[in-house]
Amino acid sequence: MTVKVRFAPSPTGPLHIGGARTVLFNWLFARRHNGSFVLRSEDTDLERSSEKWERDIGASLRWLGLDWDEGLEVGGPNGPYRQTERLEIYKEYLSKLWLGGHVYYCFCTPEELEQDRAAAMARGDNPVYSGRCRNLTPAQVEEKLQAGLKPVVRFKVPADSEILIDDLIRGEVSFQSRDVGDFIIIKSDGIPTYNYAVVIDDITMGITHIIRANEHLVNTPRQVLIYQALNEPIPQFGHVSVVLDTSGRKMSKRMGDMSVGRYARQGYLPEAVVNFLALLGWSPEDNVEIMSKEELIKAFDLSRVSKSPGIFDAQKLDWMNNQYIRASDLDILADKATPFLEAEGLTGFSREWLKYLLAVIRDELRCLAQVPEYAREFLSDTVQVQPEALPPLQLETTPLVLDELVARLSALPDREDFSQRQQEVQALLKQLNKDMKSLHGISGKAVFMPIRAALTGTVSGQELHYSLPLLGKERAVTRIKSSRQQAGI
Ligand code: GLU
Repeated sequence: MTVKVRFAPSPTGPLHIGGARTVLFNWLFARRHNGSFVLRSEDTDLERSSEKWERDIGASLRWLGLDWDEGLEVGGPNGPYRQTERLEIYKEYLSKLWLGGHVYYCFCTPEELEQDRAAAMARGDNPVYSGRCRNLTPAQVEEKLQAGLKPVVRFKVPADSEILIDDLIRGEVSFQSRDVGDFIIIKSDGIPTYNYAVVIDDITMGITHIIRANEHLVNTPRQVLIYQALNEPIPQFGHVSVVLDTSGRKMSKRMGDMSVGRYARQGYLPEAVVNFLALLGWSPEDNVEIMSKEELIKAFDLSRVSKSPGIFDAQKLDWMNNQYIRASDLDILADKATPFLEAEGLTGFSREWLKYLLAVIRDELRCLAQVPEYAREFLSDTVQVQPEALPPLQLETTPLVLDELVARLSALPDREDFSQRQQEVQALLKQLNKDMKSLHGISGKAVFMPIRAALTGTVSGQELHYSLPLLGKERAVTRIKSSRQQAGI
């Protein structure tokens, strides 16, 4: 059997972290078994669905590097892939259900439904549909239709039977049909409900495995009953646990933007996000954490997906992203960082400069959105001297140190190559320290702190042998002059 799985979002908002994890598990499963992966749209909520969100979800999947073989945008033999364009197909299957006697019209008003509900609760029964319209005679139905009443279509749930689901993640799960109740499959406006349309889509597209969020487990018995009524093979189900944050709240209920797009906008690397999502409720046998997509595909196994919730630990994502940033090729990192710098109007540096900056700061980077903040430190000619920088600037020996530094910096050759610059600066600083010691009896902090204070206006920041090459000779000299003026030395 060739594996075929699908992701069927309702396009009513962006792709969230939890949804992305569901897609990833489907995708890994498909790729692992050389199967195929379908992307389609459950857009029957006409008010809230939009093609904009469909495109947005597609863009998030592309950003994550999760491709689909059939469906939205790419097409395929089982289209259309949008539920609102499949109404004819649902009608065709509905007539099969009518022929088999599995459905009936229901004309109950909201008031009648509410009365029945209240009565069932008062009896201590499950408040499922009472079956009021189940036994209407054809004449009664005709009369109501003639009167212009708009019915819904309900599915006749067999009385007192057990529905067993052998879930790939949760094991055997049993439901009693009396707890299900005759459910609606077509609404009074003729639009199919989720439980019906999803089954017809899965049947017509030949879906073999349904891997989806655990919140749909309650729907599964209804869907199984429809497969049975249509005499169609039932796919294998795998219900994936919810994702919680570290304080145990459901991610979907969390305030703030938890969309995949947000992580893209903040400069998380898609490989890191994929790796992180894969470990939300799944782990490989050897518990390795950093895994490439290829390694994930090889190792992915539904039987190792946990029944307990996945915990979204933002710090772990930052750690993981940092690992990927460190391991990235500098050229690729520079390409990815450039839009972040441009967005903040930071220009006027060479590509080599950017690569060197990234090499210097990448151990500290959580995400690429932080790059402008680091870059800005080196891109202005002047600095604002902070109060904490005044004491080292006002040491008696500071003018000597700074005069000597400026003289020696000015004598350095112009180098394009940043590692050469770094080496020369390192040698220069070492020599300067030595000479200051023999000539004036000062060294170490007394030499380097004033230099740092003059270059940056603060007492923290990168090592001098990194910041000097990044500033360049001219800017370093300009900054020293300006800081001296501010400190009155
Ligand atoms: N539209 C449903 C959702 O987004 C799909 C559920 C399913 O996969 O059956 O949760």
